[in-house]
Formats: sequence, structure tokens, C-alpha cells
Amino acid sequence: MNNLENQKADNLEKSLTKANKIKLLGLSQNALAESLIKLGTHEKNVSMRVKQVWSWVYTHGEMDFREMTNLSKNFRVFLQKNFSTERPEIVKKQISKDGTRKYLLKTSNIGEFETVFIPDDDRGTVCLSSQIGCTLNCSFCHTGTQKLVRNLEPFEMVGQVLAIKDDLMDWCENSKHNKRLVSNIVIMGMGEPLYNFDHVKNGLDIIMHNEGLSLSRKKITLSTSGVVPNIHRVANEIGCLLAISLHATTDAVRNRLVPINKKWSITELMLSLKNYPKLSNSERITFEYVMLKDVNDSLDDAKRLVKLVQGIPAKINLIPFNPWPGSNFEPSSSEQIKKFSNILRKAGYSSPVRKPRGKDILAACGQLKSNSIKPKKNSLFQDPNYIIS
Ligand code: SF4
Repeated sequence: MNNLENQKADNLEKSLTKANKIKLLGLSQNALAESLIKLGTHEKNVSMRVKQVWSWVYTHGEMDFREMTNLSKNFRVFLQKNFSTERPEIVKKQISKDGTRKYLLKTSNIGEFETVFIPDDDRGTVCLSSQIGCTLNCSFCHTGTQKLVRNLEPFEMVGQVLAIKDDLMDWCENSKHNKRLVSNIVIMGMGEPLYNFDHVKNGLDIIMHNEGLSLSRKKITLSTSGVVPNIHRVANEIGCLLAISLHATTDAVRNRLVPINKKWSITELMLSLKNYPKLSNSERITFEYVMLKDVNDSLDDAKRLVKLVQGIPAKINLIPFNPWPGSNFEPSSSEQIKKFSNILRKAGYSSPVRKPRGKDILAACGQLKSNSIKPKKNSLFQDPNYIIS
């Protein structure tokens, strides 16, 4: 074998060893405890061990078992042999002139995905992706032009936050920040989170756990295009806040903008929201409404919107459209957005106009997309170590 072939063989062996290890990130405390017991750790020590490991990983951001110095040497070797702390690695980072950061990430699984960090005076928000690509083809959304490659796994959900915290050096040791840089999460990146419910839930459980990343559930918002059968599960099983990508006030227009509407119409969606568990003024549902010139921005639309949300404690975010290469829509004018917003405000609804962030790096709402494609059956690309981009 020549040198290149030797190196390839070496890399393959390394990645196979990595693949055989249990992925630690994304495992709940119970799942980690079970794995430790199966591998021979004495039951009496397991609960303490789990807490120690979680503290290293999620409080200190330490991914090297050798550095987990309050664990015995034998236990560190045992962890090293059996577990990996694999998390997304940053392939590319772009920083907008307004400070927004867009990351292209990958793991040993197929495909690359994007995550965004949006800094503000009073908060730092991570916009997480839940899938690579999307099945839903919303016509105003750049991600919708990318076919679904796959669902992200729990270690990739929580790993997006870890990768960004690392990049920002947002760990407790870093005393130069007196506050957390990552304070809020929105699941509004690539994909429909309610079509990947279990993985999203498992990742968020760790993000919210007080021994995990310890973010309050009220600082986390999951946004769905309207997968009605799973909407109540957000309140009952996850507990974070809910946002709905509404974007239209009639079925005819919504069928065009958000085609999932053909499956679950506006009437069905609104009925489910009126019965949403734990609905209250302190936990309002956010409606996302992208403002598209001459498509959904008439004053009649604003009046219909008021009627639709009647009876639901709601906030309506108006989003100026962020064009992307090949998009067929134009943004509404600022005057039209203002008139639209006034109608909502007069009816008693908070209706802030969202300030576009990261437009110059295609990081704004609806602009995310990676070049990854789904491998064909029986192709060479079925090799999980092969990344297509
Ligand atoms: S808006 Fe959301 S659900 Fe619709 S295509 Fe884009 S990523 Fe998918």
C-alpha cells in the first residue's frame, strides 16, 4: 500500500473504533446509568458517577476523559475505552456584521447542517436545526428546497449548543463573561422538529436538565409548521414554549406557502391551539408571520388574523421576508408592515416586527440550507463515514 492508502486505512480503523463506542452526549442520566451497569460498574456507585460525568461535560464543557480529574484513573480509562464524546464539529463559521454567527456543522453521520447564534443586548439565542433538509417545501423557505437527508440525533441536538458554547468560550471557568452568552434556544433552523419528536425531546431534556445545560424551559421555543397530532405533546412531554409558522390567513394561501396545510387545515390547527394544554397569558403561543408583498400582507389579512387567534393568548411576530437565491417572493414594504401591525396591536396583540439578523451571511429566518444530499440506496455513500457536501 502507498502512503495515501495507509492513511486511509488508518482513518477507517479510527472511525470504526469510534463508531463502536457508545455516544455519551444525548444519553439521559438513566440511559447512561444503564450503560455503566451493563458494562460492569457497581450499582452503588453509578448515580454519583453519572453526576460527575455530566458535570464535566455539560457544566465545564470537558470532552477529554483524561482531564476529568475527580474520577479515578481506572474509571477514566474505562470511559475512554467504552464511550465517545463525539459532538458536531465546526466545518465553517461565518460572522455577520451585526455579530450573528452561522455555523456549518458535521458529525460522523451523513450530512452537514447549519446552526445560528444571535447575540442581543439582553440575551444570546441559539437557533437549532432538527433535521438536515426538510420534507415540507414551504415555498418562502430556503431549507424547503433541500430534500430531507435525515433526522438529527439527540447528541447532535445538544451538541449544536455545546459546539457554539465552545466557540464562544461560554463555560463556567471563563470568568471574563459575568453572564451566560447562550441564554435562549429556538428550534427554528433546518427541518420540522415535530417530525423528529423523540430525538428533539431527548436533546431538549438534557438542555433543560438542571444538571445538564440547565436552561429554563421558558427560554426555549419550539417552532412547528403545524404537525397537529404532535402539537399537544410539546406541552405535555417537553414543556418548552410553542411557536407556530402560520404565515397565512386563508387555506388557499397557506396551501401555497406552507403545503402541510393541505393535510391539517387552518381550522384544525386553530382548534388544536385553542385546546392547547397549559395555555396561559404567561406562556403565550407565538405566531410567526412572514410578510410577503401582495401575497399575505393585506389589511384584510390582518383582520382575519385577529379573528383566527381570538381566544388564544398570543404574540404575533411579523417577519420581513429575507430573500435567498432563487426565491420567488418580495418583501412587504415597511409602511405595509406598519399598517398590518397596527391592526393587530389595536386588537390587543403584541406584534413586534422581527429585526432581520445575519442577512449578509444568509443566516436570517428561512435562509438556512446545506449542500448535503441523501445517498442513493446501495451506493458507496452508504458508508456512514462518507460525507457528501
Ligand atoms: S419553514 Fe420549516 S417546515 Fe417549512 S420548509 Fe422551511 S424548515 Fe421546513
